[in-house]
Amino acid sequence: MQTIPLFIDNQPVNGSGKQFDNYNPATGEITHVVTGASQEDFEKAVQAAKKGFQVWSAMSPTERGRILHQASGLLRAKNEELALLETQDVGKPIKESIAVDVISGADCLEYYAGLAPSLHGEHYELGGDFAYTKREPLGICAGIGAWNYPIQIACWKAAPALACGNVMIFKPAELTPLTAYKLAEVFKEAGMPDGVFNVVQGDAEVGQMMTAHPDIAKVSITGEVGTGKKVMAASANTLKHVTLELGGKSPIIIFEDADLDEAVYGAMLGNFYTQGEICSNGTRVYVHESIKEQFIERLIEKTKALKIGDPADSETQIGALINQTHFEKVMSYIKLGKEQGAELHYGGNQVKVPGCEGGYFVEPTIFVSHKEEERIVKEEIFGPVMTILTFQEEEEVIRRANDTPFGLAAGVYTNDMRRAHRTVANLQAGMCWINTYNINPVEIPFGGNKQSGIGRENGLAAIEHYSQRKTVYVAMKDLGNPF
Ligand code: NDP
Repeated sequence: MQTIPLFIDNQPVNGSGKQFDNYNPATGEITHVVTGASQEDFEKAVQAAKKGFQVWSAMSPTERGRILHQASGLLRAKNEELALLETQDVGKPIKESIAVDVISGADCLEYYAGLAPSLHGEHYELGGDFAYTKREPLGICAGIGAWNYPIQIACWKAAPALACGNVMIFKPAELTPLTAYKLAEVFKEAGMPDGVFNVVQGDAEVGQMMTAHPDIAKVSITGEVGTGKKVMAASANTLKHVTLELGGKSPIIIFEDADLDEAVYGAMLGNFYTQGEICSNGTRVYVHESIKEQFIERLIEKTKALKIGDPADSETQIGALINQTHFEKVMSYIKLGKEQGAELHYGGNQVKVPGCEGGYFVEPTIFVSHKEEERIVKEEIFGPVMTILTFQEEEEVIRRANDTPFGLAAGVYTNDMRRAHRTVANLQAGMCWINTYNINPVEIPFGGNKQSGIGRENGLAAIEHYSQRKTVYVAMKDLGNPF
């Protein structure tokens, strides 16, 4: 069985912390053994990163960009191999990982590679004297990943961090350790100097080493709201910068004049892609009362056609949930939905997939709820469970859509341009889509409001979160004795 080591100072290093097995969620088979990082290993990673920072931050931004660009090309060339690995690690359909996971990571590296040479400070004329600002890196940044989009998350954190001249120590989720390690190998092959991108493996304990360490300048985490709060609290001791990409319970509002097919496709994309394991999913689908029947009918017809199966099969559209614990959580919400009075219109059952008997597959599930306070309407399920609610008035649906501590995303379907923009202006969400859903190209900032997060990934916005300004005042005339 292959062992997955840590990657420190451009070298594979067997971790001396906890060792753990890595499973294929579709089959339950152990595929790799992973060596976790001990405190001592982590210290080595920090020392390597410190040395790496001296080299990397002194390179010209164009040189840094060139290496990131090279890495982007290598990722594209290895798309098939890495997508297969991602599918094996996450349980998501290969159709998705080939089209999205690795390629979106490569896009991100390419985007920040291009941006790196153009990052600059400002100049201020002060009546003879002048001042300028320098945009400086923060130092060693820690990246902590969730298990649903492992390589994409690693790239979304590494690319802007490295473009700004920082170095990174990245910890993938314990459940999905494979592709972050591969990314480190790709960086090395692309010519990245030693110590610039390091990977430590392990669970929350290793995450805590990152938030506690005084030499880590910043932590960027993708995870649950509760984890984000712990990370922020722990980071406060040494006043680290934080970026928090957390969970959600996002609304999709479908007005009566919307293109019905498009709205159905958007709701499906925003609930069933990656078996529903997506943070920005629009799991509260508010449909105007007057189109409810047609919407549900069309939705069920299309959902029935989805193929649940072996994630490695190129025809599969719904893969396996990440593990048994998560499966039980999703099923318990389905049970709760039924108990609390929501109407189950489709799905709700476990599916047995031939050849994947050890995996946990759940039918795409559609509830209609009449009570906003039901837990399936309030809480993040992170599985293929959509809840439809109906509304009559624009103002009413906006109020209900905003009645949540989350604020990650929102969607609006209407052909009335003014209503679309008016609605979006009133929605409390960091990422809004009009007449589409869950499309996240690297050029645009992504992140949550309220308890869904702090900071933004992607776009120019991420640069602000991975750099700091130094202001330099230059006197052109003597000050003289001020006293
Ligand atoms: P978790 O919050 O359980 O874990 C996220 C990461 O944090 C893991 O690497 C985990 O380690 C680590 N971790 C856990 N506790 C601590 C701690 N105290 N200190 C430091 N690190 C810690 O999230 P999941 O992996 O279960 O991912 C699902 C969640 O992520 C959902 O809520 C989803 O909405 C959210 N998410 C948000 C996205 C966004 O961009 N806003 C995108 C994708 C997902 P380990 O798991 O190894 O124990």
